[in-house]
Amino acid sequence: MKIICVGRNYVEHIKELGNETPDSIVFFLKPDTAILKDNEDFYLPDFSNNVSYECELVVKINKVGKCIPERYAKDYYDEIALGLDITLRDVQQKAKEKGLPWTLAKGFDYSAPISTFFSLKEFGKDIQDINFTLQKNGNVVQEANTSLMINSVDRIISYISQFITLKTGDYIFTGTPKGVGQMQIGDVFKAYLEGKQVLKVEVK
Ligand code: MG
Repeated sequence: MKIICVGRNYVEHIKELGNETPDSIVFFLKPDTAILKDNEDFYLPDFSNNVSYECELVVKINKVGKCIPERYAKDYYDEIALGLDITLRDVQQKAKEKGLPWTLAKGFDYSAPISTFFSLKEFGKDIQDINFTLQKNGNVVQEANTSLMINSVDRIISYISQFITLKTGDYIFTGTPKGVGQMQIGDVFKAYLEGKQVLKVEVK
């Protein structure tokens, strides 16, 4: 399976990092070895001095698809989760300056803690009306509704599938809202999907 992550998909997050709003959807990959499951602890890597959390809605692809029209994209997922797209901000910044890939900054081992998946039906809501929150040490640091996405989940699926075939079990991280920040040893992160705690990550 593969993990596809969308960047710069919430206006306020683009502003907080001083980035430009892209003309087309920005995406990158993480390898499957990035996955961190079952609320396992996250160990700060020693090859960065600025490790940042990005809480994101994650969609699981449920069948193979290529060149999926946006109006049919809904048929390609039925489960959602929350995940952290953990980013080595200093490594990423250097890569950006030199025009080099973000692979190390985004794809290192355990850079994608993820909750279990929940049926979208369970929430009885449109995927573009899902609330999610991230708490750091008991304080809310990220709070968003998926209606704030620049590109909807269906548009993302349609766009990516023009270039990369989506397969059953692939994950799509759909971008982070504002409020990203640095992770320190001892921090405890809790992510809430529609008010329900679904993910806990302790930083070691
Ligand atoms: Mg991200």
